[in-house]
Amino acid sequence: MANNRTAELIEKDNQYVIHPTYVVGGKLREVIFEKAYGITVVDTDGKEYIDLSSQLICCNLGHGRQEIIEAIQNAVAKTDYTSTYFGFSNVTNIECASELAKVTPGDLKHFFFVSGGSEAAEAAMKFARFYQHSRGMDTKFKIISLYNSYHGTSGMSTSATGFGRGMYKTGFGPLITGFIQTPPYYCYRCPFGLEHPKCGIKCAEFIKYTIENEDPRTVAAFMAEPIQGAGGVIVPPPEFWPRVREICDELDILLIGDEVMSGFARTGKMFAFEHWGVTPDIMTMAKGITGAYVPLGAVAVNKKVFESLSGKFVAQGYTYSGHPIAAAAAIAALDVYEKDQVVANAAKLGDHIMKRLEDEFLPMPCVANIGGKGLFIGLELVFDKASKTPIDDVTREDLTVKMLRDGLYPRIGGFCGNRIYICPPCTTTIEEADAALDILKPLIAAIKPK
Ligand code: PLP
Repeated sequence: MANNRTAELIEKDNQYVIHPTYVVGGKLREVIFEKAYGITVVDTDGKEYIDLSSQLICCNLGHGRQEIIEAIQNAVAKTDYTSTYFGFSNVTNIECASELAKVTPGDLKHFFFVSGGSEAAEAAMKFARFYQHSRGMDTKFKIISLYNSYHGTSGMSTSATGFGRGMYKTGFGPLITGFIQTPPYYCYRCPFGLEHPKCGIKCAEFIKYTIENEDPRTVAAFMAEPIQGAGGVIVPPPEFWPRVREICDELDILLIGDEVMSGFARTGKMFAFEHWGVTPDIMTMAKGITGAYVPLGAVAVNKKVFESLSGKFVAQGYTYSGHPIAAAAAIAALDVYEKDQVVANAAKLGDHIMKRLEDEFLPMPCVANIGGKGLFIGLELVFDKASKTPIDDVTREDLTVKMLRDGLYPRIGGFCGNRIYICPPCTTTIEEADAALDILKPLIAAIKPK
């Protein structure tokens, strides 16, 4: 039972707040967060929860890092806000861009700043279209993306999103024209009914087929997450990304990589594309860029795109593009990533967690598939391994309630709504991860096959 204060807050929330991606006026959980430290979040009843999903897979550096808090305080004490419009700039923004250039792959060294992932996706697609326009190829405007992908909820990012069986699009139409989705790389539930490696990487070849049938002269870019995040932490087969890079080059299509969720140490590399030695032409970032201490996103473009845009007036920007406080938070976060060797920690801890999941969880009757890299892991729950029947809504809700009861902040979702996210902050220790898995294990073992 919630205490009086919590009950009052819930009442006010019901009266005044519309929640993101939720039933408007829908029932709230009796969990109102008030504090956070390390890998723990604390509610208004003082109850503590291990942050098993780094909230929205964004608190990559854990909570309450003093260096980042101080950097934000120092920045705001110096200047609340100055603009980067009309040829002006600010010190923090310049320093943030040059620090970011030290960690982004290949020649992705030119940055456009925004306030989050949806804005980053939006700007990335607009840059892709403008790149084609600036080459005199206005007919190249279509964006190909994947089903089960998530790129955000703004106009273009909604149009590119393929997750949720239409949920993100229904009721918001008409959407933007020129957006086409192809089947995702989800080997456990292959949309083509094939098996890797005999499949010939049909998911990649189908992208080629689609572009060719749309006419490459009409396609601006292919956009995808290196590992599908909202879709359930789905890792593509090893050949997928190298082949897609080849297809894009062959057909003169830009590759936009959406690293909003997978970037900044999450997968045991600074950026997930590094696992395949592939570099996109345009890359989106957000979430981990500041460890979510303040909102920030960025779009990186490579030399080819930058040179093509150079000298052109590109009417794309936001009041908060280059906000000095967000930039200061990112500089401090980048420093923590480096000095605490957060990438190496995520890789090592990811291996440890994966081994425990495979040894101790996979033999359970309801655990069917485990996928991921580093601390970006999804574990698929089914009622029957042979038929792959996903657990139902009642079982998912029951597990969520029990995880909260036992002190785990849960996220269960993905394509069939049945993948548990094991994505704690990338600064988590082995002892903390073991404690979380020890709490989770009996809860999953108790799910009965049907
Ligand atoms: N792109 C990806 C891959 C994401 O995972 C998300 C959010 O989860 C977004 C874009 C949208 O980011 P935001 O919620 O910051 O707008």
